[in-house]
Amino acid sequence: MLDKWAEAGFNLLIPAVRGATGETLYHATEHPVSKYAKDWDPLAVINEEAKLRGMQVHPWISVFRGGRSAFANAHPEFVGKNQQGETEDHFLCAAQDEVQEWAFSFFKEIMDNYDVAGIHHDYVRYNDYLCWCDHCKKVFKREAGIKMDEMEKGSAEWTKWMTMRVHHINKFVWRVQKESKKSGKETSAAVFASYPHCIESVAQDWVTWAHEKWVDYLLPMNYWGDKEKFNKLAKRHLESVNKSVPLFEGVANKLPDEVFNIDLFPEQLFELSQHVKTMGFQGICYFVSESLSDEDLKMIKKV
Ligand SMILES: [Zn+2]
Repeated sequence: MLDKWAEAGFNLLIPAVRGATGETLYHATEHPVSKYAKDWDPLAVINEEAKLRGMQVHPWISVFRGGRSAFANAHPEFVGKNQQGETEDHFLCAAQDEVQEWAFSFFKEIMDNYDVAGIHHDYVRYNDYLCWCDHCKKVFKREAGIKMDEMEKGSAEWTKWMTMRVHHINKFVWRVQKESKKSGKETSAAVFASYPHCIESVAQDWVTWAHEKWVDYLLPMNYWGDKEKFNKLAKRHLESVNKSVPLFEGVANKLPDEVFNIDLFPEQLFELSQHVKTMGFQGICYFVSESLSDEDLKMIKKV
């Protein structure tokens, strides 16, 4: 598998090592190890094998999406809630210190124990318009003087809430970057393509991360089959980041659902990749490895 990717010209692999279950696909951890990593350390192996083939590794961490973990089961108060009091897509509450510490601990143990080139944030955000947990409601009442339920969209209180949410996400990204520099590692992040709307919806102000250098690379997930929409967003990404960090535009070739409507033939993937290259991006991130056929990889090599 790694031979194929190296042959196709990939120089960075982003293997998922911690998802919503909180279990790790690496051994040097204080957290539960996945049953799939019982007899071997997948991160150590993929990192060594990638290096032998001239590729770097940034292990992927699903930062604030950890609602199926032992941590979340033991502490339901740390799980994010929507306005109806329901959980959403296994998101935790990024506003709480304990959640920030839990999420950070994965970055720290990987940086301390693995000779990887960098580390990758995904789900480093809230889910849409979260969080309405008891903690968030209490803090909001104290800070804004009214109950969250009384807040009107567009009001001064709303702006305050938006700012608080962005602050919690920014704080985390900043902290990981500070730590990564101690061990000479880089950071990258998969971010919402819908900038600047994503600042409001999921509190992800990634253009600020770029300008402040809180990450070393950004991978906007521009997974849209609609060409006009894709181009509009891609152009905005380039203009907003303005070369402050390298941008690897994220493309997908197989997301044939109603939302994304992407199902590309290898030739179409080639065209899209060429197009992204000529637009001026520093790289392309392909989502996701199992969607790429041998024919797709041949096309990628030509790019
Ligand atoms: Zn909360």
